Amino acid sequence: MQIAGFRLPGLPFLAKTRSAEADAQRAALDPEVGELLGEVSAYLRPDDVERLRAAYDFAGVAHSGQFRISGEPYITHPVAVTRILAGLHLDAQALIGAMLHDVTEDTRVTKTEIASQFGKTVADLVDGVSKLDRIEFQSQEEAQAESFRKMLLAMSRDVRVMLIKLADRVHNMRTLDVMNAEKRRRIAQETLDIYAPIANRLGLHALYQELQDLSFRYLYPNRYKVLSKATKSARGNRREVVSKTRDAMNKQLKEHRIEAEVQGREKHLYSIYRKMIEKQLTFSEVLDIYGFRVIVKDVPSCYLALGALHTLYKPIPGKFKDYIAIPKANGYQSLHTTLFGPFGTPIEVQIRTEDMHKIADAGVASHWLYKSSDESLTELHRKTHQWLQSLMEMLAKTGDSVEFLEHLKVDLFPDEVYVFTPKGKIMALPRGATAVDFAYSVHTDIGNRCVAVKINYELMPLRTELRNGDRVEIITASHAKPNPAWLTFVTTSKARSNIRHYLRTMQYDESRQLGERLLDQALAALNVRLSDVQDASWERLLKETSAKSRQQVLADIGLGKRLSVVVARRLAQPQESQQAEPKPGSAIVIRGTEGMAIQFARCCRPIPGDPIVALIKKDQGLVIHTHDCPLIGKTRTDPDKWLDVEWDTAITKPFDVSIRLLAANQQGVLAKIAAEIAEQGSNIEHVNVEGSGDHTTMHFTLQVRHRVHLAEIMRGLRRIPEVVRIHRLKG
Ligand code: MN
Repeated sequence: MQIAGFRLPGLPFLAKTRSAEADAQRAALDPEVGELLGEVSAYLRPDDVERLRAAYDFAGVAHSGQFRISGEPYITHPVAVTRILAGLHLDAQALIGAMLHDVTEDTRVTKTEIASQFGKTVADLVDGVSKLDRIEFQSQEEAQAESFRKMLLAMSRDVRVMLIKLADRVHNMRTLDVMNAEKRRRIAQETLDIYAPIANRLGLHALYQELQDLSFRYLYPNRYKVLSKATKSARGNRREVVSKTRDAMNKQLKEHRIEAEVQGREKHLYSIYRKMIEKQLTFSEVLDIYGFRVIVKDVPSCYLALGALHTLYKPIPGKFKDYIAIPKANGYQSLHTTLFGPFGTPIEVQIRTEDMHKIADAGVASHWLYKSSDESLTELHRKTHQWLQSLMEMLAKTGDSVEFLEHLKVDLFPDEVYVFTPKGKIMALPRGATAVDFAYSVHTDIGNRCVAVKINYELMPLRTELRNGDRVEIITASHAKPNPAWLTFVTTSKARSNIRHYLRTMQYDESRQLGERLLDQALAALNVRLSDVQDASWERLLKETSAKSRQQVLADIGLGKRLSVVVARRLAQPQESQQAEPKPGSAIVIRGTEGMAIQFARCCRPIPGDPIVALIKKDQGLVIHTHDCPLIGKTRTDPDKWLDVEWDTAITKPFDVSIRLLAANQQGVLAKIAAEIAEQGSNIEHVNVEGSGDHTTMHFTLQVRHRVHLAEIMRGLRRIPEVVRIHRLKG
């Protein structure tokens, strides 16, 4: 084996190589390793402990002479990573894989070499992890999506690859201090965006919270400092309330002869922060909520304990959730309730069994952590595999990374509703899911053939958003086909990818015929017959829309890529009005609307990159709104008034956008902000400043090119120390 004396880009924490002190440094480390081996011998067979020691020696030689940026010998890193996984009682192969996870990356150890010494599985694990290491996450969405795809591919082969990668990230985050500010921020953002959600989806609660808190600390150092100080001092005041409440709960449970352990529960910092931001609460309002956990011995006791506590303190209506009957997607089970506490403060209580508690804590890793014959643990493991498999299938269908990422985000940030089939089966769907989503989740064929829906025995539109407890009955017809318009409201990845898949593979001929019928209809409304359209009009249309042929235009209409109304207007336009065409370079910005007058709604001020919809105004053309413009409201569901449109890729004209900014009231701050905006290549169209005390609120109207440009400007502004808060205004 040769040791490479250079640094590869995949290892950001590897600083430099020295040579002489290496072995001495390594010897100093032995106690750490001793502890690790002691820990694992509690649950591994002696020969596996021996193999882990051999892996340590192997890694020690491979990394000898290498140092982390902190100055520590590099080997400290794999040892720490392995210890994190030993804490989850992962099996010997995973631990050996963790110990060796960086050896192929920065030394010249080969996969074959690892395979011959530690077996093929370990070699595959190491290979999987180092492939993940080589993924460079970039801000560009395409690149990020592609990286995500690769990670999932690796994970779907063996979920242990991801567990090693997560432990690797945890240790790197714990030691992030040594990096420069820019790197700290980038790594923390990536952790928050990508690794923390994966840890959550896999149910690794402790790792998830640690990753979030560490990211928070490096992304917003000041807010983190303030919050952690405040929580510490609040803890003292809370102690009395916590202990009195716990005593009362213990007494009540005992009187009802329920064997239970009551624990006080602390929120982690990032969740406090999120709550403050999302629910617009002050720090003390968030902290005023007390958390308790009640662990009982079996499922019936959960409900008994719930009853007992509801007689002790009144429950707050609408807050009860039964995750025992309906577990979360990551396998989490518990009863949740919120009570009016003894001091007038709300108390959040989670009630669960010992087994549920294990899964709540370690998720997919509980499979190894509690190697019991417990059905629910193996079941969870099987389900995780199923989830990964379904992602892979989706990937095969979409082929497009960005589209895939869009799908995946739905899966990684679950917020679910539960509905019933006519037979009483429970289906979990993401919040916002519609009847069409439901149809596809039952079966692809049901989705493809659905024509109507009955929700709670009443006929409703297919785009109706489902609510918890709805009974949903889909009505199908054998001749029915997916409608392109569904893409505007479906939310689940399964529905979306199936509709797109269907539309894509729909016979070209079939769509051409459909397109011809649609165009004929649209022309009839303008008192023109398709056969009367002049060749010159067709040629002009082809030239300006860069479609290949008439057949292509018709097929596009049939596939929903072009709008029949728009094409019809275009074709029906008399020849003499052709001089009034937009000159090249002027603003034809919305694809599919050529020739129609376009205005941009002043309420939401859409900019290129925003998802948009167009409101058809009689004799006025189209008014473009953002997809989420609050002013659209109910009329959005009327398909005759709205068109789906998208931005043209080649837009050069600047767009107005409004932002609101809160800054500390210090001298020269406006100048700084204005300079930053100019620096980012934007113009200030209008500014309005309102001072109040030590803070100033500024309203800007800026000219930007697109969403990414706006994001860059906002990022730049956030870097100004005086800027406290900043957001875009819509509606
Ligand atoms: Mn590493």
